[in-house]
Amino acid sequence: MRTQLDVLVRTALARGAAVPAFTCYDFTTALAVVEAAEHIGAGVILLVAPKTAASPVGLRLIRALRGLADAAAVPVSIQLDHASDITAILAGVAAGADAVLVDGSALTYEENIQLVRAARDAIGDPGIVLEAELGGLAGDEDRAFALNASGLTDPGQVADFVARSGAQLLAVAIGNVHGRYAGEPRIRWDVLADITSRTKVPVVLHGASGLAAQDLAQAPASGVGKVNFNTELRTGVLSMLQMQILAHREDGENLLGILDLWRETVRAFTTASLETLSGRANH
Ligand SMILES: [Zn+2]
Repeated sequence: MRTQLDVLVRTALARGAAVPAFTCYDFTTALAVVEAAEHIGAGVILLVAPKTAASPVGLRLIRALRGLADAAAVPVSIQLDHASDITAILAGVAAGADAVLVDGSALTYEENIQLVRAARDAIGDPGIVLEAELGGLAGDEDRAFALNASGLTDPGQVADFVARSGAQLLAVAIGNVHGRYAGEPRIRWDVLADITSRTKVPVVLHGASGLAAQDLAQAPASGVGKVNFNTELRTGVLSMLQMQILAHREDGENLLGILDLWRETVRAFTTASLETLSGRANH
């Protein structure tokens, strides 16, 4: 069922849980994420990467995800991820995205605020939820390279940024990276606590792949209401393909079998993420 992303996240936070968001480059992955969410009975967010949205078939994928979300037995939101072009944002929303991460994190502080406001003005519809990103999160969302965290969010900017940008969710840099971690990730819980004490909007953690389960399990109690996963899903699917392609070629070019395994891989990861973020995990 269609659900406003901020309502989905706030409802989860109220019961001590966070909502996982998964990058869907394709419909098979999205089918499996929704299947797993329905099995558990919890809401999820389907992310559409900017390169996907900008591809010749991107808007068709968003429309297809819209149909999948509307027919789901659990709340599902479609979010256009890391978008910084207003024309692309409007096209994504028109195709059926419920929410947009308006990404001005590479801009100056004032330009970041102006971009979020410009997106709000251009979209008009107050039902479309805007997330913003404050602080320079290292990395590329679509390709994983080993990285050190950089550019922590400055808690002193949070209240002013949220008030002036109108962001309804705030993605922060607290030691997380987009992609793969070089060495042990070190989440700065002290910086997160400082951030959440200064705003009432739910905080979002990007680049959660690679964080320890006990770190993720502790996230909702620390005010993190949404956690984005991408790299680990890609790793899981690519590893499965590497192991299974030959046998499936020999088994009569069995693409159907590969797609079943693809969905099984994504379902397992989605289920594990939902359980870790449910607030029921031991920590
Ligand atoms: Zn991000």
